[in-house]
Amino acid sequence: MKKTKSEGQLIVISGPSGCGKGTIVQEVLKTNKKTWLSISCTSRAPRPGEVNGKDYYFLKSEEFEKRIKENRFLEYAKYSDNYYGTPRDVIQEKLDQGIDVILEIEIQGALKIKEMLEETIFIFILPPTIKELKRRLEGRNTETKDKITKRFLTAYKELNEITKYNYVVVNDKVDIAAKKVNSILLSEKCRVDRIEQSYLNSLEEELHEILREDKVFINEKLDI
Ligand code: ADP
Ligand code: 5GP
Repeated sequence: MKKTKSEGQLIVISGPSGCGKGTIVQEVLKTNKKTWLSISCTSRAPRPGEVNGKDYYFLKSEEFEKRIKENRFLEYAKYSDNYYGTPRDVIQEKLDQGIDVILEIEIQGALKIKEMLEETIFIFILPPTIKELKRRLEGRNTETKDKITKRFLTAYKELNEITKYNYVVVNDKVDIAAKKVNSILLSEKCRVDRIEQSYLNSLEEELHEILREDKVFINEKLDI
């Protein structure tokens, strides 16, 4: 018998650029086979080594705008002069299969998801220090100095929105941060609102049966 709801959970992961969201998510995907990362569309150019269809679906701005008009995004936002959006398709299919779906998205998109789907789990990733954030962002070597400054300005604004999230994970060590994310997902599965009423009913039925066998008379007016 199904004891708790089997459908997957939607998880939003955000945090300042370079804090290690992508790295943590890859570790979660590796260690938790019941998770799936939604691949976003973006109008930004691929970084060296990024693969179309794996890291992002890389689209021209015009194609992105066409898909906005066609309502093909669950959410989308403009970030650092580029479009980013979550395709609608596949997500519900994965959730129905009992797979937790991760959206690694920035905060404007996260807030749109919060308005639409309030049961979503919102996790904010923080770097241990801003100095370390700078070191990671520069060390990744994917953005020009100008673009890094722009991302820092965005991070400054994003920090003010942290209380809109349910959980915060500080990314000191990747494996520990990923374990924390997995623990959050597990705890969320144990929420009392995920219990199946039919399972509770069956427990009650069993209890009645045992009490009947033991000839305990149940007076429904008695508070037992
Ligand atoms: P984001 O997805 O948040 O922009 P990335 O996952 O791309 O960040 O990480 C940015 C850089 O920091 C990468 O070079 C990555 O290898 C490195 N990094 C991520 N997590 C850690 C960590 N816990 N300790 C040291 N370096 C890290
Ligand atoms: P990057 O250019 O570093 O890959 O991503 C920039 C920011 O866009 C990151 O904060 C990332 O989480 C966010 N992002 C990636 N995909 C999406 C998406 O589909 N929607 C939104 N709103 N943000 C996204």
